[in-house]
Amino acid sequence: MAPANPPAHALYPGSFDVVTLGHLDVIRRAARIFARVTVAVAHNPAKIYALFTVEERLAMLRVSVKKWRNVDVASFSGLTVNVASQVGATVILRGLRAVSDFEYELQMAMMNDNLAPDVTTVFMAPSPQYSFLSSSSVKEIARLGGDISDFVTPAVARELIARIRAESVNESC
Ligand code: ADP
Repeated sequence: MAPANPPAHALYPGSFDVVTLGHLDVIRRAARIFARVTVAVAHNPAKIYALFTVEERLAMLRVSVKKWRNVDVASFSGLTVNVASQVGATVILRGLRAVSDFEYELQMAMMNDNLAPDVTTVFMAPSPQYSFLSSSSVKEIARLGGDISDFVTPAVARELIARIRAESVNESC
């Protein structure tokens, strides 16, 4: 008889500036499939502008995922595959929305497979209502005064609106 597979631990890396209901839909699905899910906020010097610091993004994520007992939150810098092996994750989880995500995501998955063949990238599609949702579009709508309640949790909406107000006050000074 083949040995039982160890329960899989998935690493879900990303910017999460800010966490949207699309991200949370992926995390909710992953929490039902994997024994453990680590949501990892990237310190990414290549992305010069972020609205929230890594610590702020972690805090919003912690509140957003606390209902799932097998989900934890961390930050990282450097190669995702290195972080996966440090935390013992055998899966890198990425969300796939439209075809526009596909080319970049596939390229990353191939590169990561080359770097760490023992780590498998798994793509997960969100519910259709989140398939056009991105952190940047939510920030844009919030900046223009639109209703973001269908896209983020109430707590994240409050943080986002407050930050955008503070930003516009600073800009007008
Ligand atoms: P990154 O800068 O790494 O793309 P994001 O926070 O934008 O960071 O996204 C993290 C992951 O979540 C990516 O795999 C992205 O495709 C996925 N994702 C983002 N928004 C959604 C959504 N609405 N539905 C499903 N997956 C999503």
